Amino acid sequence: MDLIARIAAIVGEKHVFVDAEAQAPFLTDWLGKYRGAAAAIVRPGSTEDVAAVLALCAARKIPIVPQGGNTSMSGGATPDMSGRAVVLSLTRMNRVRAVDPVGNTMTVDAGVVLAKVQEAAKAAGRFFPLSLGAEGSCTIGGNLAANAGGVAVLRYGTMRELTLGLEVVLPDGRIWDGLTALRKDNTGYALRDLFIGSEGTLGVITGAVLKLFPQPMARATAFVAVNDASAALALLSSVRARSGDRLTAFEFMTGDCLSLILKHISDARLPLGAPPPAAVLIELSDADDELELTGRLESALVEAAEADIVLDAAIAQDGAQSKAFWRIREGVSQALVREGKAAKHDVSVPVAAIADFVAAADAAVTAAAPGVRPIVFGHLGDGNLHYNLLPPVGLGDTEFAALAPGLTHIVHDETRRRRGSISAEHGIGQLRVSEMPRCKAPIELELMRSLKGLFDPDGLLNPGKLLPGPAEN
Ligand SMILES: Cc1cc2nc3c(=O)[nH]c(=O)nc-3n(C[C@H](O)[C@H](O)[C@H](O)COP(=O)(O)OP(=O)(O)OC[C@H]3O[C@@H](n4cnc5c(N)ncnc54)[C@H](O)[C@@H]3O)c2cc1C
Repeated sequence: MDLIARIAAIVGEKHVFVDAEAQAPFLTDWLGKYRGAAAAIVRPGSTEDVAAVLALCAARKIPIVPQGGNTSMSGGATPDMSGRAVVLSLTRMNRVRAVDPVGNTMTVDAGVVLAKVQEAAKAAGRFFPLSLGAEGSCTIGGNLAANAGGVAVLRYGTMRELTLGLEVVLPDGRIWDGLTALRKDNTGYALRDLFIGSEGTLGVITGAVLKLFPQPMARATAFVAVNDASAALALLSSVRARSGDRLTAFEFMTGDCLSLILKHISDARLPLGAPPPAAVLIELSDADDELELTGRLESALVEAAEADIVLDAAIAQDGAQSKAFWRIREGVSQALVREGKAAKHDVSVPVAAIADFVAAADAAVTAAAPGVRPIVFGHLGDGNLHYNLLPPVGLGDTEFAALAPGLTHIVHDETRRRRGSISAEHGIGQLRVSEMPRCKAPIELELMRSLKGLFDPDGLLNPGKLLPGPAEN
């Protein structure tokens, strides 16, 4: 029997897509930057289906590309153009398996969409804090494979810190049941942590035990105009001193970034009139007492204004206004796509080095490519900036594509100079794989390759992503 017929016998014929039209949405990434081809799109319905498909593909040396919501910002879930790979889409596996309100955990299938997890937590009187612009489509498996961050890392941490246990199918089809809900387990190497952030290169995640938190009943949101990243850093210190771990989000956007949002996102409105040189969106949250929380935010902002750190500020008066402030921040990715092809960077540096990084990178890229337009935003409180570069006005896509690798080297060199990382949360995928030998120490790459060889000796899981081939060293 041929491969497709065998896979259909495992998952059911209607869950195997071979015609071009049905395959199309799975073969292009969210940014429209990468296109691939596949032998089939396969939609397993259970962990056992995944295990059987992986065992079959391993025996025939067929590459597998795991895919969740396909919202990767680094081409991580798009196959290459060879047409040999099977794209394994986990979205049929979308059950919340169990909620444990005593242990404060939730056990889910890997294909559950993040927003559904948030809703299920809320229905149980609890809170799951991972929150990001793609939450209506991205899946828990993708969040884990990418170790997603988002807007509440400051208070709750990344996906790694939000996860207790995993269920993973290994490339040869064996199932590792690590679905424990233990907060303490010192029995050796943390296998769970190897799979989190492995971008689908070590195993297919099929289930997870997630941590839940008390539902924050009080929120205070402010949109604050500042002069630059340096003022934003001073504001961060001041708000943190007043609010401690109630500080949940601290999002930075430059004035150019705000102008771009106003240009492309029709329902985005700035609360303070014309775009300031830069702005910060701040959110505090707590179990209760909204008045007290708003008071804290207000005092911090008054103090910062008196110290000339803040130019102007608006505090949301109700939920609708808070949502409107967030609409501005959430519109950035879409606004960038609508403006054109950008050279995208997702860097992290020590928080205190952020302002210095922005000034140095801006100066270096504009010296190398006069007229290039930095569009800078991100999770400043985490030291994570999305440092995007739009082409100079009038320069065509092809000409800019020729300049982009050199500009990326400049941005990544400024990052490394400050002992930063070239991927804070979007992953390496295909977008940054060629930068790995320049930006990772040889010993790190060697250890990563050894692990890959141990888990996946035939290199079948998500080839071409995360790890460069030996020839690229
Ligand atoms: C508008 C927008 C805003 C975003 N904002 C943020 C943000 O603030 N923070 C952030 O961290 N990211 C952000 N992202 C990026 C993206 O949404 C996240 O990386 C998300 O975690 C990917 O989930 P997904 O289900 O779409 O995964 P996919 O895109 O389908 O896959 C991502 C990677 O995970 C692998 N993978 C998927 N499922 C599995 C599985 N079950 N087992 C093993 N490997 C798997 C894939 O092979 C690929 O390498 C944003 C994206 C968009 C479009």
